[in-house]
Amino acid sequence: MNYQNSLAFAIERDQQDPLKDFRKQFLIPQHNGKDVVYLCGNSLGLQPSSASKYINDQLSNWQNLAVEGWFQGDDPWLEYHKSLAISVSKIVGAKESEVTVMNSLTVNLHLLMVSFYKPNSKRYKILMEGGAFPSDQYAVESQVRFHGFDPKDAVIEIFPREGEVTLRTEDIIQQIRDNADEVALVLFAGINYYTGQFFDLQAITKAGHDAGAYVGFDLAHAAGNVPLQLHDWGGDFACWCSYKYMNSGPGGISGVFVHEKHFNNQQLDRFAGWWGYRADKRFLMAPGFEAANGANGWQVSTAPILLQALFKASMAIFDSAAGICRLREKSLALTGYLEFLIGQINKQQGEEVFRIITPANPHERGCQLSVVCLRNAKAIFQYLANNGVIGDWREPDVIRLSPVPLYNTFEDVYHTGKQLLAAIAQ
Ligand SMILES: *Cc1c(COP(=O)(O)O)cnc(C)c1O
Repeated sequence: MNYQNSLAFAIERDQQDPLKDFRKQFLIPQHNGKDVVYLCGNSLGLQPSSASKYINDQLSNWQNLAVEGWFQGDDPWLEYHKSLAISVSKIVGAKESEVTVMNSLTVNLHLLMVSFYKPNSKRYKILMEGGAFPSDQYAVESQVRFHGFDPKDAVIEIFPREGEVTLRTEDIIQQIRDNADEVALVLFAGINYYTGQFFDLQAITKAGHDAGAYVGFDLAHAAGNVPLQLHDWGGDFACWCSYKYMNSGPGGISGVFVHEKHFNNQQLDRFAGWWGYRADKRFLMAPGFEAANGANGWQVSTAPILLQALFKASMAIFDSAAGICRLREKSLALTGYLEFLIGQINKQQGEEVFRIITPANPHERGCQLSVVCLRNAKAIFQYLANNGVIGDWREPDVIRLSPVPLYNTFEDVYHTGKQLLAAIAQ
């Protein structure tokens, strides 16, 4: 694509953008009376303007129907999650029965490891990317300890080669092969939160299965950001949060994928609760757990309807955007534009002031660019914030900038470039 470093170019691209009207369905924070440039959807997506209506509808149902709300009203709570599973399954490329929404992300990671991390004295290791999100590291270490192993021995983190910042697929596969006799679980992020690298999940799945391990993914930074084909890729399980790219609000409900091939697998343990009981018999309140078919069988507790309501507001927008592939097309263009503008700044300065550590290949990244500021990093980040450009900061010197196709514009990206240039002039 031929990008230009001009406001006129950005405005023209926005006018031609078939998704441009979706921005109006979000509430954009204000700075000095103007919309901020919000590039932080990787951390907390913006609020859909319909969110309060979705919440208020359920408050009304609670007020007017009280306990009958489970069975009555236009969208009874007992079935309230069903349309969510349909919307989410399209976003992650799964069958409806392979997806459920419940709990929050780290909790779900634990619950899924209860089922899919079944170490024995020979096969007990977990392979994961080095520098994974801390919560995942803590979850994995505590699971390993829970089973009586030492994380130093049982957790293998795969790091980039000397002098490189992202992982090569060939190295990931080689490490899996090298540990083929001992690896019980390969657990990878879809997209690494720090570098923004989008891993080759299909290749990782194949290598993990060839080694005789289960394969699972934390898709916190991938779900709603990049197209996924969870069913076809054949991984065993996945989970993600919905408050990042899926705009469900702080602490919003998490999603879970369990591949269909496991629905009748009697070997799998799980931590059961009544909400995972087969729905037609749940209210018989009988002893002896009988799992619901599919991912729903992993549910534990009563559905949190207010969190689901927020998620529904967002999923209605995704549904009307007609597919993650359409979003991805714009996303590639927006992020490419940001990359171009940062490159222009380095050129103008005659030296590298910003170094993008996210892969340059668009197929190996989502919308996020992780930008190392080679000098005055913190001051540059502060300058952006003071001037209405909201990214986020990661120690020691990285600013993550994530233009999101549903609500960001080419003009947002243009302004970001301008403010980055102004920041280094300071
Ligand atoms: C955001 C994120 C989390 C956060 O987990 P919560 O349980 O929702 O707090 C965990 N893992 C990854 C990879 C993340 O990106």
